[in-house]
Amino acid sequence: MFENLKEQPADKILMLMQAYREDPREQKVDLGVGVYKDASGNTPIMRAIKTAEKRLWETETTKSYTGLAGDPGFSDAMVNLVLGDSVPRETVAAAATPGGTGAVRQAFDLIRSANPKARVFVSDPTWPNHLSILKHMGIEFVPYRYFDNETRSVDFTGMIADLHQVMPGDVVLLHGCCHNPTGANLNLSQWKAVIELLLEREAVPMIDIAYQGFGDGLDTDAEGVRLVAEKMPEVLIAASCSKNFGIYRERTGLLMAVSKDASRTKLNQQTLNYLNRQNFSFPPDHGARLVTMVLNDEELRADWAAELEEVRTSMLGLREQLASELQRLSGSDRFGFLAQHRGMFSRLGATPEQVETMRKDSGIYMVGDSRLNIAGLNKTTVPILAEAIIKAGI
Ligand code: PMP
Repeated sequence: MFENLKEQPADKILMLMQAYREDPREQKVDLGVGVYKDASGNTPIMRAIKTAEKRLWETETTKSYTGLAGDPGFSDAMVNLVLGDSVPRETVAAAATPGGTGAVRQAFDLIRSANPKARVFVSDPTWPNHLSILKHMGIEFVPYRYFDNETRSVDFTGMIADLHQVMPGDVVLLHGCCHNPTGANLNLSQWKAVIELLLEREAVPMIDIAYQGFGDGLDTDAEGVRLVAEKMPEVLIAASCSKNFGIYRERTGLLMAVSKDASRTKLNQQTLNYLNRQNFSFPPDHGARLVTMVLNDEELRADWAAELEEVRTSMLGLREQLASELQRLSGSDRFGFLAQHRGMFSRLGATPEQVETMRKDSGIYMVGDSRLNIAGLNKTTVPILAEAIIKAGI
């Protein structure tokens, strides 16, 4: 049997990490993998998480199974964090999943069983794992224009034109905030226009929100998702706690199915439970419990929000420093987009050759599509990157 297995394409980001590790140069900068790093290059455990972990160790009395949808307290706390009071709680079915990836995967599974003919419209570009999971599951997907490589901002005219191809029942996948890999995001009036179009086309929105709090703040980052939940009859939301709680390896996420019609929630919930049962049975609990403790304890929550705000503003500071350094070196405003983008990533709009030049000549490691992780920088490496960008002729 094993002889029939096909070689799978290697993960480009993991290959890049390996190449970085093997590079003997002292001066090298890793802007590859999507993990937050502080100025010293560490990915710290957040203070509130550490405290919650200590408390949990002291008070947890059993490791027996939770429910199939995980701890209901986790769902409540996360529904509140993501959706605020945009929709009544009884219209939301929710289930914990192994990370945001698990939520995305379960959402696709639900789509496939509810409407095998549905196509999933995905931004071009999107997080590569969206595409590889869709391919793996045999779900048809259609890219829609999203990024204008000239202005390095959202190609909204192209996006709307392409979304006119959506048929009733098709799914449109949107990033809640901090678009990965581009860093370019919809503004509120663009969200409204997209909602109008989706209503007209009778499409189902699916929102992947993996960076709430990394862009413009916890509530502002959720404005688009909340508006969609409020206005559309149905929406699927995949939320990740990996980044904003810094608990990457704990695998903590939540899938929400929101329906205007509260009488559907029971069946939606049963379906989410059923899908969890088929794929992994019970979701991981440790990270979910920490998140619940942090969100439900006033002091821990305030400390978490303050630390998250430090993370967010430090990335904004680096963006501004990089944009102004590039303005100085190039004598033009053409890199202003770096300060406009939000979240951990920006797409530079460089060619693969230019990306390779920066790696070879300056020890700058970024993904081949010229996505750079802003958090991989610090005050000292920003000028090094700026010089490398200019030297590569970008
Ligand atoms: N969606 C997007 C757009 C992401 O960038 C990520 C993280 N790379 C995820 C989902 C899922 O992350 P995780 O499974 O680690 O929670």
